[in-house]
Amino acid sequence: MEIIAAVSTGADAPLTVRRLTLRAPRPDEVLVRVLACGICHTDLTARAAVPATMPIVLGHEGAGVVVAVGAEVHGVGVGDRVLLTYQSCGACPECVRGLPGYCAQWAVRNAGRFGVDSPLTDATGPVVGAFFGQSSFASHVLATPRNLVVVDPELDPVQIAAFGCAVQTGAGVVAEVLAPAESSVLAIFGVGAVGMSALMAARALGVGTVVAVDLSPERRALATELGADLTLDGGADDVAARIAALPGGGATHALDTTGAAPVLATALRSLTARGVLALVGLGSSPVPIDVAGLIGWGQTLRGSIEGDVDPQVFLPRLIGWYRRGLLPMDKLVRAYPVERINDAVADMAAGKVVKAVVTFP
Ligand SMILES: [Zn+2]
Ligand SMILES: [Zn+2]
Repeated sequence: MEIIAAVSTGADAPLTVRRLTLRAPRPDEVLVRVLACGICHTDLTARAAVPATMPIVLGHEGAGVVVAVGAEVHGVGVGDRVLLTYQSCGACPECVRGLPGYCAQWAVRNAGRFGVDSPLTDATGPVVGAFFGQSSFASHVLATPRNLVVVDPELDPVQIAAFGCAVQTGAGVVAEVLAPAESSVLAIFGVGAVGMSALMAARALGVGTVVAVDLSPERRALATELGADLTLDGGADDVAARIAALPGGGATHALDTTGAAPVLATALRSLTARGVLALVGLGSSPVPIDVAGLIGWGQTLRGSIEGDVDPQVFLPRLIGWYRRGLLPMDKLVRAYPVERINDAVADMAAGKVVKAVVTFP
């Protein structure tokens, strides 16, 4: 079928909205008409990973409505509203353990079928698709029951689109990986969509003290509005000293969303003895590790993808929080029609919007 998609051809090239052909769903696949898709920083960085000769459709925070299902699909029907997330195999040891983020086939199923078995083509040949098992900067995508959850049709797809990546990453890493207690001090470094989600989750879970660190005054103000007890300017304040001055002598738990070496160094210096720093942000520069410091203070560095959550379990939990007003996404989200996707990307890159969401008619 003919679809509309925003096609990327390189790190610096603007995306072009044009017509592509999407093949029919296979027996295990679901055809979804996309209503909204969040833009994640991974979309922006992935543009550089594909050669300019190989166009790709990115987008991995899709929300939409099912328009066709393959013969082998159960539990999802035409007309169902769905939230899309990353893909996994369901059969490898990590999937069986309920940790599909560490699926043995993660790269194959999420990093785009780089010209191999792509469901997308244009007049000149294949277009890379199936990014995160979806490629949702498109009017229609193919997914499977493993990378979608059915949601209440009354929920606004613009508000919940980012649950499938940024929100489950930030909220999941707090709920499932760090699991701070009421007496804990959690310091969040970088409050973009992932950091804000971590903050909202910490408040939902009753974490005692939450500190938000960011360069942007607007984001620090929003973090305060969302319940941060203390906000610090990463560019001006002596962040580690300010956190160390808190009752308890520092952060028992910290989260880095930036991947930036100086920020990681500050985050480590902010930790108490036996403190844990979780890493969810990919940076470009190598990070020196203070091994003596880690040993001497018994601290833990812990990487995590997609919050270590099983989306089939955690996305419904997030929806429950959202319904109770614990995830006020309207304070983070700005919608852009797909024709304005380059404005959305520019506003994201400039930090003018926490979560840009493109919409399809
Ligand atoms: Zn993402
Ligand atoms: Zn697997």
